[in-house]
Amino acid sequence: MVINSKTSLQETLEIARKEGKIIGLVPTMGALHDGHLSLINFAYSHCDKVVVSVFVNPTQFNNASDLEKYPRDVTKDAEFLRTHNPETIIFTPEVSEIYSGKVESESFDFGSFVNYMEGEFRTGHFDGVGSVLKRLFEIVKPDKAFFGEKDYQQLLVVKKLVEITGQDVEIIGCPTSRNEFGLAQSSRNFRLTDSELKEAELIYKALSKVKKMFDTNSIKEIENDVEKMFEAHPSFELEYFSIVKEDDLIPTTNKEPKQKYRAFIAAFLGEVRLIDNMALNY
Ligand code: AMP
Repeated sequence: MVINSKTSLQETLEIARKEGKIIGLVPTMGALHDGHLSLINFAYSHCDKVVVSVFVNPTQFNNASDLEKYPRDVTKDAEFLRTHNPETIIFTPEVSEIYSGKVESESFDFGSFVNYMEGEFRTGHFDGVGSVLKRLFEIVKPDKAFFGEKDYQQLLVVKKLVEITGQDVEIIGCPTSRNEFGLAQSSRNFRLTDSELKEAELIYKALSKVKKMFDTNSIKEIENDVEKMFEAHPSFELEYFSIVKEDDLIPTTNKEPKQKYRAFIAAFLGEVRLIDNMALNY
């Protein structure tokens, strides 16, 4: 079922709520794929009613061409969900439903989570993410909301967001879904040619190698190795590679005992920007 208006969504959800149903929200920007589906299935294992929002949020793009070229096809998304989870409600609000007046972000104090990686390279991105999610939580009032670890920094930012806003929603992280060669599924993959899709596997190969090297090599050695791997593939441009502490996402140059670490990569393959991350020692 596709619902465009806030009022009819709220009416439908009110009935479910009165029946004691637990409501889950999976926020997406559409161009649904198996990664989204893994989140939706996860949501169904925790909730009775699942809403998937499809909204390409203009304020979280810092690059006009990326926003313009972002794949959009709500009819296809609706068909995808009809095939896999026909009970799911798709909520596709207009921009005016989310932003009253000017289409601009609110500014949030997320703390150190946004100083590095996506926060550093995509100025204003997390304020945009925070603005749209705060509004979606207000409209949907979900009991639980589901986010992929593929966007791990976003997941921690969203947990911080509900701490700041005091919104009563449980934020649940879900594992990254990958294709058979390890490539993380992403709507941006739809913009890659078949040969680029093969090349894109380099990101997972690099992260897997980092995980293997982590116990025995220094961070500097690992960084050099990753840089060399990307230099050997000139169609790629590595934007950042960072090993960070899992809890504060601050990049590190040395390993501390009992600390959990994750590695993150952002790279351009042609014009398409891809990101991924992996837990290294837990
Ligand atoms: P997006 O539509 O790209 O904004 O993603 C919507 C949600 O799906 C976010 O919480 C993402 O982290 C999550 N997601 C996207 N790709 C994957 C994936 N391959 N595995 C798990 N979650 C994903």
